[in-house]
Amino acid sequence: MSRRLIPAALAYADGVPYAAAYGDVYHSADGGLEQARHVFLGGNDLPRRWRDAARFTLLETGFGLGLNFLATWQAWQSHAPAHARLHYVAIEKHPFAPDDLARLHARWPELAALSAQLRAAWPPLVPGFHRVLLDGGRVTLTLAFGDIADCLPQIAMAADAFYLDGFAPSRNPDMWSPQVLSRLHRLAAPGATAATYTVSAAVRQALAAAGFACEKRPGFGRKRDMLAARYAPRWPLPPARPEPARRAVVIGAGVAGSAVCARLAARGWQLTLVERHEKWAAESSGNLAGIAMPLLSRDDNIPSRLARAAFLFSTHLWQQLGGVGSAFAGEACGVLQLARDAGHAALQRETVEALGLPPDFARFLGAEQAAAMTGNPAAAGGWLFPRGGWVTPSSLCEAMLASCGGLLERRFAQQASSLRHDGSEWTVQGDGGACIARAPVVVIASGTNAASFAQTRELPLAAIRGQVTHIPAGELPSLPVVLCGEAYVTRPANGICCVGATYDIDTDPALRQSSQDENLERLAQVLPQTSMGKDRPLAGRTGFRAVSPDRLPLVGALPDPCAAIGGSRLSDVPRLPGMHAVLGLASRGIIWAPFAAELLASQLEGEPLPVERELAAALDPARFALKAWRRRNG
Ligand code: SAM
Repeated sequence: MSRRLIPAALAYADGVPYAAAYGDVYHSADGGLEQARHVFLGGNDLPRRWRDAARFTLLETGFGLGLNFLATWQAWQSHAPAHARLHYVAIEKHPFAPDDLARLHARWPELAALSAQLRAAWPPLVPGFHRVLLDGGRVTLTLAFGDIADCLPQIAMAADAFYLDGFAPSRNPDMWSPQVLSRLHRLAAPGATAATYTVSAAVRQALAAAGFACEKRPGFGRKRDMLAARYAPRWPLPPARPEPARRAVVIGAGVAGSAVCARLAARGWQLTLVERHEKWAAESSGNLAGIAMPLLSRDDNIPSRLARAAFLFSTHLWQQLGGVGSAFAGEACGVLQLARDAGHAALQRETVEALGLPPDFARFLGAEQAAAMTGNPAAAGGWLFPRGGWVTPSSLCEAMLASCGGLLERRFAQQASSLRHDGSEWTVQGDGGACIARAPVVVIASGTNAASFAQTRELPLAAIRGQVTHIPAGELPSLPVVLCGEAYVTRPANGICCVGATYDIDTDPALRQSSQDENLERLAQVLPQTSMGKDRPLAGRTGFRAVSPDRLPLVGALPDPCAAIGGSRLSDVPRLPGMHAVLGLASRGIIWAPFAAELLASQLEGEPLPVERELAAALDPARFALKAWRRRNG
């Protein structure tokens, strides 16, 4: 899959937005918004089908300027029940930049407010899936930036309606190939419909082969016909997924547990949060500052793609919560990741160029610019992540928990010691077997303590010690960004800069001099002008990261350690009923947690996943058990 995204180039033909690469216009010359309403909404019998809907899920092939989306959102606001949620998933190979969207949308003043909201949340133009929450959560847009042939197999959803809008089949056959259209049946919910302006015989045949009954209807403007289709396969459909009971117990009130509560409460779940300490964020989420930044690799590998999705969703969610530095402590000041030496700097430059990353996401700063930014004349260069920054995790937890409102009950200062399932619900028991809480779903988010239950004992999580050194801000040069390299240095949080962190395989919770010396030595490598003596008073904090063998989190349903695995796929691993996890967030809890919680909440609700199927699979907690099974079974 090509990992380079080529944005759309804005052009017009006779006043209609035009794509030179395809030789076609983006919408009918007879009116874009009217076409959206007639062909796409009307062809799917919308808004009539929304009257009693609690949720409606839509897939569009070709997001373009988002006119169909804005028309749908506008109609949703007027016609859907207030509590209902619209999930709109759209594939786009050449997305527009937000300024171009503003120019394009300016023609429709009635869409101005929706357009402004969309553009404010518009992701940077980087490949992959991007989840965007709009209208206070009433509308969830998942943008899949990439080619349809790559994106479609990666989408996990059950669509109630399809908008097929990929230019004329004669101009863009790739979008309408039988292979592409045959995939729609995997994504169709029972009763799904589809609409498009083309009545091409090849499209009708491909849709029929995918299980759709096609019907010609009067077209829009100068087009005589259009196509409306209904999913009516000859093959039997899988049974409908039961609605979740929407009650859960979450164990652990760090960033993972707080994020799970926030994303489930956003979907109306009733939650009980069990925490052994008296306050949230008392363990590894208690550090003064966590750093928010993506991860880049020359081959854009799975960890980099996941970290990018996590970084972008989490920073988006922070906006929704009220903004970094307003709703909770932190700054979106940018992060500079310094190169170790000239060779590493060359690799950094090449990576940004090869991936075609836009400067609002990542850019390479040469030696001179990096030296000017850090005051270190020897700096070789670095990656600047302008959207990055730092956050105080405990205040983020507080904001996420506050967002749950009355749906959250806190059971703090209570140690969950064991878990018992009675066939329908889990009971979380304290010492001596006393019931702390009960619910059909339990989410383990207790970091390094997670493997203490009988059901979780085989989870391969290691506790890695990390000591952070605290330095009063006045003793360090004032940096405009968070600096990362051999060590990281944050901007001041409450007058303190954090320098860290060590990576130790031991369980000593006490601050120790050798760890502080190590931090100061590494600080001197990124900021030689600040070299500090080893006689500094010991100041800082020690925490334990929960780390999995592949360094990626565990997100999803937990495997049943007592049941035999039936085959070589993840779906062959039996799961514990209703038991889920968000674990193994290592050093990146503040970006993993909101993203992982969104993924888990989407799984629990049967909603479209916010991320590619292969990326969700890379986080499946059953991957380790399956790997062991594969080793045993050749
Ligand atoms: N639905 C859009 C709207 O409401 O504004 C208009 C869509 S326009 C007719 C078709 C879109 O399909 C273009 O934005 C184009 O970039 C996109 N597209 C074309 N080929 C594609 C491909 N192979 N994969 C994904 N998107 C593609």
